[in-house]
Amino acid sequence: MFLQHSLAIVLQVKDHGDSDKIVTLYTLEHGKIVLIAKGAKRSKKRFVNKLELFSLLAIDFVPSRHSSLMRLDQAELLAPFPRLRENYELYIGASLLCELVLHWTREHDSDEELFRLLRWALEGLAMAGGGVGRTIIFFHVKMLDILGYRPDLTGCLDCHALGAPGVVYRFSPLRNGLVCSRCEPRAAANSQPLSIQTIQLLRRVQDMEQGKLERLQFSPAATREGIALLQRYDSHLLQREVQSWSFLG
Ligand SMILES: [Zn+2]
Repeated sequence: MFLQHSLAIVLQVKDHGDSDKIVTLYTLEHGKIVLIAKGAKRSKKRFVNKLELFSLLAIDFVPSRHSSLMRLDQAELLAPFPRLRENYELYIGASLLCELVLHWTREHDSDEELFRLLRWALEGLAMAGGGVGRTIIFFHVKMLDILGYRPDLTGCLDCHALGAPGVVYRFSPLRNGLVCSRCEPRAAANSQPLSIQTIQLLRRVQDMEQGKLERLQFSPAATREGIALLQRYDSHLLQREVQSWSFLG
């Protein structure tokens, strides 16, 4: 079979037997794929220092007709992002981005926009460093948009108002939107109160071009609320816990 070529980001690496590694990659052309890198644990030349978490690679692989496990033939390291592995906070942030892509995508389901978003977020973390929570919020909100799961933050789902004085707005993962304390006086389980400021910030993230997001400033409180909302939304929609959330300080 002919070699396939792709740009790829390393999402997960596991040892396999004495000499091989199993790598899960998110690729530009083929979406998420799982490959076996033969001899990667021993090889001095072919894969050394290349199959590290978060690295951007140009790969050649051999597609397989019979099993989902395909063979990695060559990997060229385009960007190693060493800072993401040296700094604990950046490592947790980058791990979360990769874990989200791991859980939210299916194998062989390519999405160029999502690949570019992941690359942009990893580059942002590696270069700027500061504001890990903010980068995670940008990435996650845009990812939900790309995948078709945009939460409705335009106003209460029942009365359509937003910002009425003395009214509490809660995000309901079950209904995928906001519900106000007038329409639903007793807070439903799993719903989370959000300040108007946080709601408006998250809406701006939804509507802003990716390249302009850096202009948005998040207060520590807005970052905390945004992160908590996305975490709850994940566990509701994925029906599983994304482990990296629990390491986020
Ligand atoms: Zn309402």
